[in-house]
Amino acid sequence: MQQACLFCRIIGYDTPAEFVHEDDLLVAFKDLRPQAPVHLLICPRKHIPTLNDLMPEDNALIGHIFQVVKKLAMQSNIHQKGYRTVFNVNAGAGQSVYHLHLHLLGGRMFSWPPG
Ligand code: AMP
Ligand code: ZN
Repeated sequence: MQQACLFCRIIGYDTPAEFVHEDDLLVAFKDLRPQAPVHLLICPRKHIPTLNDLMPEDNALIGHIFQVVKKLAMQSNIHQKGYRTVFNVNAGAGQSVYHLHLHLLGGRMFSWPPG
């Protein structure tokens, strides 16, 4: 059966993506429309729509996401110059895919505050 959620389809290999990391808890792949030279999405295998839906039992998952971010930032050689991590939550923050994912962006300068 075709799944409705785009990132569930990517996780299930039904929709192609350029994976840079896979483990039991999550996958990471290149964003289709990169907003920086490095733009990766770190995405739990578990379908969690937004950060608002996180449960206490997801604490280990969230910790693991940031360990993987650290590894990917080093791998991409953006760890020293700097990088940004973003969870967009709901429409007001520009969330367009309702499956939890952390953006890892690097390779250029970022302004603050963000738009
Ligand atoms: P957000 O707007 O925070 O929900 O982020 C969703 C991200 O998914 C955007 O940066 C999109 O460019 C990206 N995206 C959409 N479709 C795909 C796809 N098929 N493969 C990889 N990234 C995608
Ligand atoms: Zn999903």
